[in-house]
Amino acid sequence: MDPISRRSVLAAGAAGTLVAASAVAQAASYGNPNEPPQGAVNTTGNPSSATDPGPQNPALASQFPGAFSPPATDVGSMPMFWASFNNAPRRIQDGGWARQVTQADFAIATEISGVNMRLTRGGIRELHWHQAAEWAYVTRGAVRVTTIDLAGRANVEDIGEGGLWYFPAGLPHSLQGIGEDGAEFILCFDNGMASEYNTLLINEWFTHTPPEVLGLNFGVPPETFAKIPLHDLYIFQGAMPGPLAEDQAQAAGSLGKMETSSVFALSSMAPVKKTKGGEVRIADSSNFKAATTIAAALVTVHPGGMREMHWHPNADEWQYYIAGQASMTVFNTGPKAVTQDFRPGDIGYVQKSLGHFIRNTGNTDLVFLEVFRAPQFQNVSLSQWLAHTPRAMVAQHLNIDPAVIGRFPGDAPAVVPV
Ligand code: MN
Ligand code: MN
Repeated sequence: MDPISRRSVLAAGAAGTLVAASAVAQAASYGNPNEPPQGAVNTTGNPSSATDPGPQNPALASQFPGAFSPPATDVGSMPMFWASFNNAPRRIQDGGWARQVTQADFAIATEISGVNMRLTRGGIRELHWHQAAEWAYVTRGAVRVTTIDLAGRANVEDIGEGGLWYFPAGLPHSLQGIGEDGAEFILCFDNGMASEYNTLLINEWFTHTPPEVLGLNFGVPPETFAKIPLHDLYIFQGAMPGPLAEDQAQAAGSLGKMETSSVFALSSMAPVKKTKGGEVRIADSSNFKAATTIAAALVTVHPGGMREMHWHPNADEWQYYIAGQASMTVFNTGPKAVTQDFRPGDIGYVQKSLGHFIRNTGNTDLVFLEVFRAPQFQNVSLSQWLAHTPRAMVAQHLNIDPAVIGRFPGDAPAVVPV
């Protein structure tokens, strides 16, 4: 329904139930009551007000109907909360590639930066470590991860599509693609400024250390290091690893493995919410014990459904769109309400406690991740709040029959319709 007809329908409905004078005032301002009002509702009788003579890039513009022709209820502006891996330059090497969106590219994203990486079958992301914690979601294939904890205990684990891994800040690790066609995944660092190209690489340290120091450190002759690569490897084509159990036994030695797993099969767990509209799976430190600084939800919204009106009181939300297409509107003080469109490979960002909802605008399932720099997933549902507030109180705010308020979903459905 276009904004004008929606407004007309709602105005007509309101006129039948309210006192005539106030109905007229309310109808006239319905949608966006700010002065001057925004949106195509203003262009009746003057249609050239909304045309775009150009220049323009129709292919790109067509991807953003919410920006080009915002809903009549949108108002004001807010910092850009859309970004994408689709136009992030790929650093391609023999063995895979990486691309990233950090706060340097996406100013609003202060709490999380994102990386999209591909490793071929056998492709290796060089042994390294970094100052931020690393959380990842596997979108294709499978990965073998290696890491240790502060006691030297080792985890060597395989994780497939729909799975996660987590490495605490500063603890070293490696990644290797092991699926039939390697793997693709996204990484999140728990710091918006963290860069995938600013990691401490094992070969760079070896290269820039005197051979006699290396000899002394490892208790072997300095000549041992005569043939080390004289530059970083970053991503390189490696040989497929041996059986997992053998790798695990060798890495464990006498110290054993870590107390908690470094991986978690998120997409294989039962949904924590399932409605007609879709379903939600959640992994945070309550079920994925290793993930002490990152919580996440994997959300599926069926066609016609919507991730309900809600907010998160404990952290900003970094989103990664996996499948389908979406429209998200974010609400802030001001008032401000801004709508943007999202497609696979895109990134969304919502600051802590700002209201938002996400509609499936396509004909197929919408699948996306919500990622938070927090130990726990926390969510406040607008309908749950209003269903659990005295109805007379709510009714006086909204001018709605209390009996109707009693039908609002009270159990935080996450995805609607219920
Ligand atoms: Mn890393
Ligand atoms: Mn959210």
